Amino acid sequence: MITGSVAYDCIETPEHSEDFILGGSASYAALAASFFTPARIVAVVGNDFKKSDVKRLVKRGVNLDNLAVNAELPTFLWRGKYHDNFNSRDTIDVQLNAFEGYNPILDDASKAAQYVLLGNISPEVQTAVLKAVKKPKFVVLDSMDLWINITRPALDALVKKCDLFILNDSEARLMTGEHNIINAGNRLRKSGSKSVIIKLGEYGSMLFHRDGFFTIPAYPVKQLYDPTGAGDSFAGALTGYIAKADKTDFSTIKKAMLYASATASITVESFSCYKLEKSGLKEIEKRVRKIREISKI
Ligand code: AMP
Repeated sequence: MITGSVAYDCIETPEHSEDFILGGSASYAALAASFFTPARIVAVVGNDFKKSDVKRLVKRGVNLDNLAVNAELPTFLWRGKYHDNFNSRDTIDVQLNAFEGYNPILDDASKAAQYVLLGNISPEVQTAVLKAVKKPKFVVLDSMDLWINITRPALDALVKKCDLFILNDSEARLMTGEHNIINAGNRLRKSGSKSVIIKLGEYGSMLFHRDGFFTIPAYPVKQLYDPTGAGDSFAGALTGYIAKADKTDFSTIKKAMLYASATASITVESFSCYKLEKSGLKEIEKRVRKIREISKI
């Protein structure tokens, strides 16, 4: 079960721009998770959310029974602009819209979820969703700079309730004040979540776990189109893989990182979810083999 934003994105990269395309952390994450296990979204969209976008999620088997519609307001909107190297971006605009005053309602199937991804959205929504789940086995948490900056106490409280906290290097530095990423990861783990993954974009990702440290490179992408959603796809595929394995040990999380990295690399090769939604486990496994090959001596 995945919560997070279901959004319309307006994106500008050095080469292209597209407006009002399907995005949002829950959309990317659910599509990515759907390659491994049935995924369901708990979120809200607005009165402008297109039927064709509903179809894109449903086509991949994503369950939308708990996707509410706010008849008064439009869908969550995010406008982002990437710099020349694609590694940094500015949020030009973010409008919560349908999420204003959203009170998540979970049906019995969502309440019974064992594997939960609290995708990037306000800690208030993430906390309300987690509260409604009866007995989760494994909870993954994702966030971003906006929430770290404006809702830090709520996020800190949530981190303590989660099994795995995923964030990128700049967010880890922002949260800890540590420039050294190893120290930042260890500090985050000791002060909150049981395990922590720090993503390093094109340089891979690192896992800080009770049983040890692990790192993998990213899949070597040649055609980078739009990095939007890479982190959400990573989190979705990772949680989906763990749910499918029904195991949460160090070794399973390490394998899940390979699949997460491979899945995220598909997302960045197109705008929106265009390439991800058309992909499959075969392509993901091909990329997993490549990551294994380039990291073995
Ligand atoms: P990522 O590139 O993985 O960080 O995720 C980008 C996606 O997150 C976009 O599709 C946005 O719609 C969505 N997004 C951007 N800002 C926020 C926010 N503050 N809360 C929730 N989702 C957001």
